[in-house]
Amino acid sequence: MKSIQIAIDGPASSGKSTVAKIIAKAFDYTYLDTGAMYRAVTYLALRHQLTQDDTAEILSLLEEHPIAFGRNKEGEQLVFVGDVDITHAIREHQVTNNVSWVSALAPIREKLVDLQRKIAVQGGIVMDGRDIGTVVLPEAELKVFLVASVEERALRRFRENQEKGIPTDLERLKEEIALRDYKDSTRAVSPLKAADDAITFDTTGVSIEGVVEFISEKAKEILDKQSN
Ligand code: C5P
Repeated sequence: MKSIQIAIDGPASSGKSTVAKIIAKAFDYTYLDTGAMYRAVTYLALRHQLTQDDTAEILSLLEEHPIAFGRNKEGEQLVFVGDVDITHAIREHQVTNNVSWVSALAPIREKLVDLQRKIAVQGGIVMDGRDIGTVVLPEAELKVFLVASVEERALRRFRENQEKGIPTDLERLKEEIALRDYKDSTRAVSPLKAADDAITFDTTGVSIEGVVEFISEKAKEILDKQSN
């Protein structure tokens, strides 16, 4: 059967990656977390005390320590720069609160978009991010833009952190999410926005299973049409 490209975009903590992973597994497609790639570059920049004025240095660090994905025994995705496992480090506060300036740098985006497209040509793919439907895969057969209220997104992240034993302040989380959305949607290069042909789905009050079912049904409809 022919495979398709599924682009899932949306603001911070809108459940994109959780849903994208489940769908990729169900369809036996590759899953690509593009946010993890911007976080990996941010990790490198912070480790080397670089700023937005050091784009060339950040790019050469990326050449020296290429981003790679792997999997542990439990099947969880791992993220590396060179041979250093940064899966957990890229979720830390410092990276989260600095990723927006890194992702606003055009040469960095160019480099990462190029890598993302190379991965996508290999076959069926589910990619999540901010500019997948608009820039990275404008020809994707299915584009979904997931939204949810800031309150709900902060609460989801708060509960996830509680489960992991990470102490979190809910009000601060709300402010950080709103600020990251603002920066991501107002930047000059590839801002966060729904593609004209994307289906916008408000997940406020909808379970993960509900979102997965909605996207899976849309994907099946497209695949059925293609095979007829
Ligand atoms: O998806 P996640 O929240 O991990 O993304 C981290 C950050 O990476 C976003 O806030 C955004 O600044 C950047 N990003 C981006 N384009 C993408 C994916 C993520 O600019 N396609």
